[in-house]
Amino acid sequence: MDGCICNDCAEQAHEIAREAMGEVMKGRLSKLDINELPKPKEIKDFLDQYVIGQDDAKRYLSVSVYNHYKRLLQKDAGDDVEIEKSNIIMVGSTGTGKTLLARTIAKLLHVPFTIVDATVLTEAGYVGEDIESILTRLLQVADYNVAEAERGIVFIDEIDKIARKGDNPSITRDVSGEGVQQGLLKLLEGSVVNVPPQGGRKHPDQKMIPVNTKNILFICGGAFDGIEKKIAQRLNTHVVGYGAVQNTMHIDKENMIQYIAPQDLKAFGLIPEIIGRLPVLTYLNPLDRTALRNILTEPKNSIIKQYVKLFEMDGVKLTFEPEVFEFIVDKAIEYKLGARGLRSIVETIMIDTMFEVPSTHVQEFRVTLDYAKKQLGKANLSRLQNV
Ligand code: ADP
Repeated sequence: MDGCICNDCAEQAHEIAREAMGEVMKGRLSKLDINELPKPKEIKDFLDQYVIGQDDAKRYLSVSVYNHYKRLLQKDAGDDVEIEKSNIIMVGSTGTGKTLLARTIAKLLHVPFTIVDATVLTEAGYVGEDIESILTRLLQVADYNVAEAERGIVFIDEIDKIARKGDNPSITRDVSGEGVQQGLLKLLEGSVVNVPPQGGRKHPDQKMIPVNTKNILFICGGAFDGIEKKIAQRLNTHVVGYGAVQNTMHIDKENMIQYIAPQDLKAFGLIPEIIGRLPVLTYLNPLDRTALRNILTEPKNSIIKQYVKLFEMDGVKLTFEPEVFEFIVDKAIEYKLGARGLRSIVETIMIDTMFEVPSTHVQEFRVTLDYAKKQLGKANLSRLQNV
């Protein structure tokens, strides 16, 4: 493109643009009113409608979010007893509802919220995204209103993927491990970081937006595969402690995750400083048979309710023999598919009917146990594993 602009004009234009940007960036804070904010019990009641079980995690999450509001309100009031923030870490096997909890709570939040994945993060200068990009999404959902983003909540999924690999950190560079944790620490502690507005990697031409993370609440989630072994080791080696625990309670070996303690996270490879900045530690239970059965039909938008709706839109009343639900759960357990697999199993059972029924005049369809068995018999369920 040909064209000239003198230095003065260029500077002026730049200034105008900068001021306009500044106005957008400053933004106005939406007002929080303690009387209108949902109380922890109300938050939990809401979560109960969508997420089965996981009471411990729900309680911690509800209280943390409520306290986060209180902190923000207190800051507005200029009080001198400063309430410190309580970032949370949720530990539980994959597919037990961590992301679902985060997504559900987002529906009733009064502050900006986003979910980011820790797996894409690497140390500055390496392939992958810089740690500051965690805040890009938050800025985006806050419409680049920095003040609003600075009181938001960020859910960092798969935090276990940035654990240090092995106990010897120094031989080779652990690009996705300790360096990233150090970077993350800065964010958790509260500091002003330069955020690339479009995310991805920082590059010299991109204008960074400074964001103060002091009031941002961080919720972390991770599966921490194999951490049960570390928990068991700790309970066994601390003979005195173990004895004391044994005297007072029975250890449920089927569900070790409930005994998780900060030192287990350290044994897994999180640095102590990070653990210190995540003072609220909670867990999600593995899903048992009853939980899986309930997940099928109980949540407000349960899988079965969704299929009933799909058929209803074609004017077809869809019903199931109750035995079908037990059968679906049996298969999910047999093939170790977990809650995620439930949907695939129902989809496999329903696919032919969904293909054919809209072109017929059928007004009712009942899924019998025989039909479900026949449909699944045709499919190869093992291909659904590891989804
Ligand atoms: P995680 O984040 O723990 O790996 P997700 O929250 O993504 O697992 O769960 C995967 C899917 O399984 C969810 O979208 C939901 O359909 C189902 N699910 C898992 N746990 C629960 C639960 N406790 N209650 C209801 N549905 C669940």
